[in-house]
Amino acid sequence: MATGKKQPMVAFKGIMKRFGKVVAVEKMDFEIEEGSLVTLLGPSGCGKTTLLRMVAGLEEPTEGDIFIKGKRINDTPIHKRNLGMIFQNYALFPHKTIFDNVAFGLKYRDVSSADIREKVKRALEMVRLPGVENRMPSQLSGGQQQRIAMARAIVIEPDVLLMDEPLSALDENLREEMRREVDNLQRLLGVTTIFVTHDQREALSMSDKILVMKAGRKQQEGNPESVYNEPSNHFVADFLGHSNFITGEVVDVSNGHVNVRIETGDVLFAENKGGFSKGDPVEMIVRAQRFDAFPREEFEPVEGMNHFEGRIKDRSYMGGEVSYFIELGADREIHIISMMRTRLYEIGEAVSVQVSPHHCHLIHME
Ligand code: ATP
Repeated sequence: MATGKKQPMVAFKGIMKRFGKVVAVEKMDFEIEEGSLVTLLGPSGCGKTTLLRMVAGLEEPTEGDIFIKGKRINDTPIHKRNLGMIFQNYALFPHKTIFDNVAFGLKYRDVSSADIREKVKRALEMVRLPGVENRMPSQLSGGQQQRIAMARAIVIEPDVLLMDEPLSALDENLREEMRREVDNLQRLLGVTTIFVTHDQREALSMSDKILVMKAGRKQQEGNPESVYNEPSNHFVADFLGHSNFITGEVVDVSNGHVNVRIETGDVLFAENKGGFSKGDPVEMIVRAQRFDAFPREEFEPVEGMNHFEGRIKDRSYMGGEVSYFIELGADREIHIISMMRTRLYEIGEAVSVQVSPHHCHLIHME
């Protein structure tokens, strides 16, 4: 019976990988929709590359199954998986021309030489480097070589494009440019893409879906907004963005809201999205950008907003924005990042801090 659910392009079912005693990937279930760009995000050693290498056929799962288009591929040899791969060291063949580099994956397929020429030409146009067929890799810049690596990966019209930290060897400016380039190309081709990174900005800016991993385990999956705004635990909140973690206890629950008494004695409101009850110990997560600070004497509280008093302890001017550490008393400080709208606050200055309950995200204490 049809369920109405579209078959995922890639599916991991109970996938696990052990290297001796090290469990690189813990039992993992995960699905990737056709045409989407999914990032595997997490700190070094969390198992991102191992997961990708299992899709590629470069590692064998210890347990579980991997499916592409509904077909189990655990035993499918690498060259029959129809995957495009781009890795950090884009590893073009230095003694082959750009044409031969890009055409490489087509040589082992049943494609005529005329078609190969045409496909290489189109792939080079796609990456906006038309006409470089006869050059050698050393005659191109780092960014251009990376685009050639992309052309080589897409020329075979892969079912899935695998990218492992493809931008990390590039300098910051080029990286930003290439990030947009990859993003545009992926959307233009509509090719399902799995992108490995440890860079949260890269993941947030490019992904349809992010899989956050830690020590081989899935921590959370979701679109960038949901992972950023509604982190499922402390680790995810900490890994993506600048967060304040304020411990407290639920003292009242009403109308979809909870009142939380925090360490300073202040009572803050938050939305009750997690079925919290009176007496629950909680951690309130507030992004540094979500607080607003006002000079104490000018502050007028707004109904329905949380506010409390503090004193500037430290500040770093960063041009468009300013990072402040504000002492709240009870040995408690918060970090806020404020757009530079008016003047800078001085160290020691008394301020009032405001935050919407909507931006106070509660999780149960771990
Ligand atoms: P990085 O960002 O540093 O590449 P990662 O998140 O991609 O890290 P993996 O490279 O997948 O992590 O490694 C996951 C774990 O598995 C690590 O503890 C690593 O040391 C271990 N590991 C990976 N490959 C092997 C191997 N071939 N033999 C033994 N252990 C391995």
